[in-house]
Amino acid sequence: MSIYEEVEIEDLDYDPHTQIYTYPCPCGDKFTISLEALYDGEDIATCPSCTLRIEIIYDEENLPPLRKDDDDDGDDDEEDGDEGKEEVNEEGERGETKEEEIDVDLPTVGMKSLAVR
Ligand SMILES: [Zn+2]
Repeated sequence: MSIYEEVEIEDLDYDPHTQIYTYPCPCGDKFTISLEALYDGEDIATCPSCTLRIEIIYDEENLPPLRKDDDDDGDDDEEDGDEGKEEVNEEGERGETKEEEIDVDLPTVGMKSLAVR
């Protein structure tokens, strides 16, 4: 099998949710390669529908950070948590006022009638 094309990684479509790069294949499907594979040194994206392959031209230093599918997101949030809490407190005072307004606006009678039905 030979390489169909050499493609700069900038020309591939990247889905940050799946962390997979895709590139349109002439057969109508898409070449796919995962970010993790790129970090492993793989530079060949394959098409699931045909035998064509492309070679990805990339620099590992320029790749987006690899996110594990574990709960690593929580760790990042905790590190930034101290600064975030202060902001939340300021917003919280305003929020209480809004909640009171909402309580007043709530049609208590309407809820009772619903409960009856
Ligand atoms: Zn194909």
